[in-house]
Amino acid sequence: MSIEHREGLVEDYFAGVLQGSEREAFERHLEGCAICRQRLAEVKALDSRLRILIAEDNADLLDILSLIIEGMGHVALCARDGLEALRLAEERDPDVGLLDIDLPGIDGVELTRRLKSTPHLREIPLVAMTGGIRGEEAVKAGCSALLEKPFTSRQLEAAIGGILGKGGV
Ligand SMILES: [Zn+2]
Repeated sequence: MSIEHREGLVEDYFAGVLQGSEREAFERHLEGCAICRQRLAEVKALDSRLRILIAEDNADLLDILSLIIEGMGHVALCARDGLEALRLAEERDPDVGLLDIDLPGIDGVELTRRLKSTPHLREIPLVAMTGGIRGEEAVKAGCSALLEKPFTSRQLEAAIGGILGKGGV
């Protein structure tokens, strides 16, 4: 499948409206279209909202976290397992990652290692949503902060603010 150059495509791609094979077709189009690449850079620069990746396999908690994040005026990028989170990180270039540690597929510690060993993803500051021994593992792997469950929306906001205030990593 190929995709025709048209108005609004870049915006739809950036907003996550383009999905699946359409999204892949547009990514191939991007490689050959300097106009769309330039437009994408402009659209990214204009959007001051933070993109926050949430990796959480508990569907109810994921819904709540995404509502809180959007209530703060940010964009929530939701993943139900480690590999989906990795894919979203590559596609959507998040500003912050909130990672549950006991994830199916690859767990949060392994996800952290993979993000930290990928050149264009290693600068994303990560918050591990766990405490105890797994929290220590997550920090060793590269998470900059820990948020022990259960936490309040205020604690979540403080953790995001704190991690960004530190200048990332
Ligand atoms: Zn184009």
